[in-house]
Amino acid sequence: MKIHRSYTVEEVGRLLGVHKNTVREWLRNGLPALTDQRPLLILGHELVAYLNHRRRANKRPCQPGEIYCVCCRVPQKPAEGMAEYQPLTTSGGNLIGICPGCGRLIYRRVNRARLHLDKGDLTVTLAKARGHIDESGQLSVNCDLKQE
Ligand SMILES: [Zn+2]
Repeated sequence: MKIHRSYTVEEVGRLLGVHKNTVREWLRNGLPALTDQRPLLILGHELVAYLNHRRRANKRPCQPGEIYCVCCRVPQKPAEGMAEYQPLTTSGGNLIGICPGCGRLIYRRVNRARLHLDKGDLTVTLAKARGHIDESGQLSVNCDLKQE
């Protein structure tokens, strides 16, 4: 695709490997075109800009209780609705869960002060800062993070 060229709907479809109805849908959704002539022409640079914008718009931000999985490329709700909060600094840390799609660990940077919002309905346990596992069953540190 060349930005200084203009393309017909059919050409764009062939170029990008999409159906021409898909291109017509883009036109309806805001892709600019030179419509005072037949066939209408789509400018290369407008097409590039439109597709970039679309790609950004499709990047769905994580909702509360979701963690983005880089492998599945979508925000996921951690398996079992459980996540661990790993403090990295006094003001923030990682929310860590297991991706239900691929089984990998998924991480989300969260602000400590916003954790109660970002965790959504997840059950969050507090991890020790230095990966020290406390086996004494002392769970008092979790209290403020646990769901009521
Ligand atoms: Zn995944």
